[in-house]
Amino acid sequence: MRKKAFMALMVSLIIIGIFILPSCQRKTDGGATPSGATGSEAGTTDSPEKSQGKIVVITTILPLYDIARNVGGDIVEVKNLLPPGGSPHTYEPTVEDSRNIEDANVIFMVGLGLDTWMEKLTSAMGEKGKMKIFTLSDGVKILSQTEVEEIGTHSGEDSHNKEGAVNPHIWMDPMRMKKMAEDARDAYISIRPDQKEIFEQNCKIYQAKLDGLDKLYSEELSKFKKKDFITFHAFLGYLSKRYGLNEVAVISTSPGQEPDPRHIAEVIEILKKYRVKIVFAEPQFSPREAEAIAREINGKVAIVDPIGALDDPKRDTYVKNMKENLKAFTEAFSEEN
Ligand SMILES: [Zn+2]
Repeated sequence: MRKKAFMALMVSLIIIGIFILPSCQRKTDGGATPSGATGSEAGTTDSPEKSQGKIVVITTILPLYDIARNVGGDIVEVKNLLPPGGSPHTYEPTVEDSRNIEDANVIFMVGLGLDTWMEKLTSAMGEKGKMKIFTLSDGVKILSQTEVEEIGTHSGEDSHNKEGAVNPHIWMDPMRMKKMAEDARDAYISIRPDQKEIFEQNCKIYQAKLDGLDKLYSEELSKFKKKDFITFHAFLGYLSKRYGLNEVAVISTSPGQEPDPRHIAEVIEILKKYRVKIVFAEPQFSPREAEAIAREINGKVAIVDPIGALDDPKRDTYVKNMKENLKAFTEAFSEEN
């Protein structure tokens, strides 16, 4: 009898051991450290816990939006402020922009005087803002304007910012985009260290796409010897340096302001002297000056888009936009070579 009672007790203890204890353990494990890819992904879809909801990210321009989405994957929700067709040099933020920023956890901006309107928005937010701001040009090697504008530099006049010394268009070089993607990855990891592996994996996949783009540009553009052109404003400096293009001059040294007629006259002289026939205009600015110059030099205008546009299926990602631009470059240079 006693033995039977002892057995019954043992059996019930085993049952408790099998069914109850592990479930307790699962609970503590899952609650404290959501680890591993599947657990984290499940945690981000349909918000089980507030702390594991999506990271809300705001970007200033499409190339950064592209980095933010690709590196963040399912863990982030990204909004871009500059609307299609807008130029970061002349953009005036809206009331809706400041509302969006209120909810943001992370802000990615270029810096270097390009998107100063973001700084104004966040400083106006004051105490209300809970976001962390990451300036993605911080880790990137910067070119000065003069390294870009070999001819046609205007004595001391600034182009994009008060210092007038730096070129902010770093994203036009796919290799610099790779570095910016790494810095975005590290920014995300600093906020969600438990999801480090996912961010690392996403970043690698995105960087492979950028490598593909770089290879394509190198292959296509190495076919041409003469790669001289004039552009509306100095956004092709980094790209030119990477792939051996020659930006002979720029039309506007201060995007958003009327180009100086004296500068235009000088530029036309230079273009004639070096027999430059290619004028690159941009969708964000009127092509009027570009067309006028093309007539003067008996050249051609082609469109190259520094930003891209989310409402244009051909240009709604960074890589797609850069591929469209590559078509414009190759078409223009084939006529010259
Ligand atoms: Zn620009």
